[in-house]
Amino acid sequence: MVLRQIYDGKEAKELDDGMIKLIDEALDWLTPEMIASIECIAFNDDGKHISGSEWAHCHNYTGIICLKTAPLCKKTIWHEAAHAYTFHLIHLGGDFYKDWLEVSKTVSRKESLIERGVISIYGGTHKLEDIATWVAAIYSSLDPNSWSDFDDLLRSSGMKFRDLGEVFSKKLELLRKYKFISQKDYEKFLEIHN
Ligand SMILES: [Zn+2]
Ligand SMILES: [Zn+2]
Repeated sequence: MVLRQIYDGKEAKELDDGMIKLIDEALDWLTPEMIASIECIAFNDDGKHISGSEWAHCHNYTGIICLKTAPLCKKTIWHEAAHAYTFHLIHLGGDFYKDWLEVSKTVSRKESLIERGVISIYGGTHKLEDIATWVAAIYSSLDPNSWSDFDDLLRSSGMKFRDLGEVFSKKLELLRKYKFISQKDYEKFLEIHN
């Protein structure tokens, strides 16, 4: 059970039912390995802890995710959960991050997203953001109620996932191998997009 709490240092407030439902719905999609890497989902609306331009963040290596109560969507939770799990894997000392860097291309930011193997401009700003935007986009693609960067990328390019090239298929494979997504969701994702 992931702890959910208000984290703004003032007196505790009750999270409203809608917010709890949204978190639970988002967590329901994730693999048990990912969920186990989340220590706490905390809300902080004081306007200082989470800076104005930020939507949310994940503290390095602690599994603590901080969110604002608004705007909040499942995609943000998936994105931060991917950070928490990535930090967890790095902390364990496995090869995931090394493997991700290996399959990632070092291509100029002037090139297209597809050329660079990333799925959004934000994903191209840092390798950790690349991973988190990928994971959030996969779950958003699987969830009929969420909008996904993948839908955008494929629609605007008129391509199928398999046409995007080797970097894309290798990244998806790594996310399956290291249990960011289950085998079932991996297959479902390919079924939708190939
Ligand atoms: Zn925080
Ligand atoms: Zn991020």
